[in-house]
Formats: sequence, structure tokens, C-alpha cells
Amino acid sequence: MPQHSTVIHWFRRDLRLMDNTALHQAAREGAQVIPVYVLSDWKAHHGWTGSARQQFLCGCLESLDKNLETLGSRLILRCGRADEELEKLIKETEAKAVYFNRDYDPYGREMEKKVQEVCRRIGIECHSYKDRVLHEADEVLTGSGSPYRVYTPYSRNWLGLDKTPTLGKLGSLGTAPGKAVKSLPLPTLQHWKLPENTAQLPIPGERAARERMKNFIENRTLHSYAQKRNIPAGTTTSRLGQDLRFGLISIRELYARCQSAAAQATIADAKTSIETYIKELAWREFYLAILWNNPSVFEEEFAPEFRGMPWPGSDEHFQIWSQGRTGFPIVDAGMRELLATGFMHNRVRMIVSMFLTKDLHCHWRLGESFFMQHLLDGENASNNGGWQWSAGTGADAAPYFRIQNPWTQTKSYDPDGTYIRTWVPELKNVSQEKFLAPPKDNRALAPGYPLPMVDHSTERDRTLAIFAKHRGK
Ligand SMILES: Cc1cc2nc3c(=O)[nH]c(=O)nc-3n(C[C@H](O)[C@H](O)[C@H](O)COP(=O)(O)OP(=O)(O)OC[C@H]3O[C@@H](n4cnc5c(N)ncnc54)[C@H](O)[C@@H]3O)c2cc1C
Repeated sequence: MPQHSTVIHWFRRDLRLMDNTALHQAAREGAQVIPVYVLSDWKAHHGWTGSARQQFLCGCLESLDKNLETLGSRLILRCGRADEELEKLIKETEAKAVYFNRDYDPYGREMEKKVQEVCRRIGIECHSYKDRVLHEADEVLTGSGSPYRVYTPYSRNWLGLDKTPTLGKLGSLGTAPGKAVKSLPLPTLQHWKLPENTAQLPIPGERAARERMKNFIENRTLHSYAQKRNIPAGTTTSRLGQDLRFGLISIRELYARCQSAAAQATIADAKTSIETYIKELAWREFYLAILWNNPSVFEEEFAPEFRGMPWPGSDEHFQIWSQGRTGFPIVDAGMRELLATGFMHNRVRMIVSMFLTKDLHCHWRLGESFFMQHLLDGENASNNGGWQWSAGTGADAAPYFRIQNPWTQTKSYDPDGTYIRTWVPELKNVSQEKFLAPPKDNRALAPGYPLPMVDHSTERDRTLAIFAKHRGK
């Protein structure tokens, strides 16, 4: 028997009905569940968001609304500050409890506190749940009870912990919100006054995300993940980043499906691949834990010794990098893939971010913001972690003196130039050995394609000098 007549489920980064902890609990405890999503109210420009991800969000909300309809319900949309909007909704519907899944970034945490405060003031219940992760930051601690600062021991601990089982399908959400409960229309980019999205995006919504998850596991990309994941050409990774970002699939279900694939795998390589993949899921939680314990990583370097270091790169260089016109084919291919699709392969993310910070000496925060504006899976903890790793300033940092060479990276990971030719059409007819070193005769690789904008070894030496000088202070 439900305990309450009416309750609210506040959708956040959990835009799905399947295996959704807070939603399932709300459905169990409320005779009527009011499902609400609160749209942000910023306009025109946001340093960490752009048209592609918001377009995808619009599609996810539309799909969520349709899915709710199949349960006889509908999505209520409001806009503004979540605490203020939820307060109004509680009063309008006389809801007796609010349910939500916890978020781990400083903004999300701050808002959760305010929502809890609203509920306390009004005198209703407020329930929050672990759902976005398999393990929250305070579950994975060192023997002395402190947070890890390095990934490997963190992951060892994380892998050994018991995982929460999945909840399965949602039965019902009780009676639908009545007509008196007003909702804004489903949003378009106009809502944020954003320009039209030009990137080619995957299909939004829970059903499409579940298809992607199933395909990744059943079509065996998972089984060759360890061998192929560093190759950016083709589909060698799961491409589930945006689905985890928006909570279109549950991390518990993804993990459980991987475990069951591992139990059925007969070939050693396949088992290794699945283990490798699960360790990547642990990276995601490692960075969420780093952010949880160190919210200041958004403002400053994680490693104290590198705080206040100069990043003398120019705005002009940053612009050239962001347009994919550096004259380094692998870097340009990555940046153009990002602009065209909202996705960039992980190996290439490492190459372009190291190029921006170590060859062009631009501040990692510029790249961090640019990625957040364009990546569909833009997730501030992982993105900050990735950028600080590349800059050599982060948790588990690549030591600052280990600077990847874009030419040799190309040789290792795109040896036949397939990835480069896919994303840099001017280079379609250029032979692959020309992608492995700067042009000897100083002539452009193709008409209209720029010469390398800098000399890698000169800039590498400059980076080493900047770091050495700062450390010597
Ligand atoms: C500079 C830089 C910025 C990045 N920004 C983001 C970001 O904004 N959002 C994001 O989700 N990932 C980010 N990553 C990590 C990684 O590149 C992406 O998670 C991955 O490319 C997504 O593609 P996939 O789903 O096919 O990955 P897969 O290889 O299939 O991995 C599966 C999942 O594991 C997680 N994962 C894998 N690698 C990492 C990693 N290194 N760190 C954290 N989580 C990981 C992701 O959730 C990913 O979807 C960044 C990496 C770098 C170097």
C-alpha cells in the first residue's frame, strides 16, 4: 500500500524509467507520482554547454514524456531554480514527499541541499538515492579512511566491492498528474536562445540508448575492446558516454550485462576485454569521487605544486586549434570529429588536449570549456579529470615531462590514416606516411590544408622549461 497520496519525482541525470532507484521508490510509496524536470533558464551563452548537448537533451525529454505516456502519465516541465520550482509544485499538488537521485558535482549538491531545506520548511519528506554510480565517493576509501588520489589502488578497491543489483522494469506511476498541474511545452533550442545544432547526433532517449548498449555487448565490440579501444577509426568503443551522462541507461544494468557476458565468454581475450571495459567504468567513478572530495578542481590544479603556473598560449592559437586547422592531421581530425558529431574518440581526446596544453601552451581550462560546449557526453568530472591529466596537473597525472608526440601517436593508432581521411576530407588522397611527420619540403599536404602551426620538439622543450621554472620557485 502506498504511504502517500501524491509524491514528486524530480528527474535530473536519470532520464529513464528502467532501473531508476528514486523513481521506483516514488512509485512504491506514492499513489500518484508527479514526474518533473526543471529546465535551466540561462540564455544564449553558457561556458559549459552548447547546442549539440542541449539538442540531445530536448530529444531525451520528448522520449521520456512518450515513455511516461505508456504508463498513463506525463512529464511536467518547469523552468528556473529547481528549489523554487519544486516548492511551487509541492504546494500546487499537495505532494507529501520528493524523490530524486543524487548528483555529485558542486552545483548539483548545492541545489540538493536547497531542495531538502524547502521540504523541511514545508514539513514533507525528501528522499535522495545513489543511482548514478555503482559506488559513491565515501564507499571507496583507503585503509585509513581517506579518499584515493591515484586511480590504480582506487580501482582495485572499487572492483572488489559488492555491487547493487538492478531493479528492473517500472510497473506503474499511479494516476496521472491532473490537468490543473501546468507544464511548459517540450523545449527546443529556442528555449535557451541557442543557435541551430549542426552536429550529426545519435538518436536520443532511453530506447535508443538501450539498443546501443545491447548492440555493444551482443555484436561483440565489447569482446575485442581491450585490443581495439585505442584505434579511433570505426567503432571500437561502446559510445555510451552520452547515455551514461543523461542516465538513459543505468550503470547497474550496464555492469550486470557485462558481468553476464564475461560469465558466458569462452575466449580469454574476450574476458580480458570485458575486465578492461569495467575498469573504464571505474575511471568515471574515480573522477566523480575526485570532484566530490575536491570541488576546487574546477578553479585550480589538483596538484598543488602546479597552481599559479603560467600558460602563455595565445588566443589566436586556441582559435586555430578549436577549428581543426593546426596542420597536425591527427589533431585536426579529432577536432573536426568533435564539431561534426559531438563525439571524439578517447585516444584523440588525449592527443588534442596534450597538443593544446603542451604544444600551444594554452590553459587547460580553455580546452575544458570548449569540450564541455561541444561534447555530447560532456560530464564535468570526467572532462576536468581528462584535461588535468593531459596538462600534467591532475590526479593520477601523466608526469608533466611525458609529452605525447602527435606524429608518433598517429603511427601507433591511425597507421593507415583511415581516421584522418574520414574527418579531414582535404587529405583524402594523401598517402599515409605523410601523416607521420611534418612535411619535409615545407609544402602543404593538400591545397588549402595548413602547414603545421608549430614545431613539436621546440614546443616540447618550451613546456619542459616552463614546468621546470615553476617547480624551481
Ligand atoms: C581531455 C579529455 C576529456 C574527456 N571528457 C569527458 C567527458 O566530458 N565525459 C566523459 O564521459 N568522458 C570524458 N573523457 C573520457 C573518455 O574520453 C570518454 O568517456 C570516452 O571517450 C567516451 O566514449 P565511449 O563511451 O565510447 O567510451 P568507452 O571506452 O566505451 O568507455 C565506456 C565508459 O566508461 C567511461 N570512461 C571511459 N574512459 C574514461 C575516462 N578516461 N575517464 C572517465 N570515464 C571514462 C565513460 O563513461 C564511457 O562512456 C575525457 C577524456 C579526455 C582525455
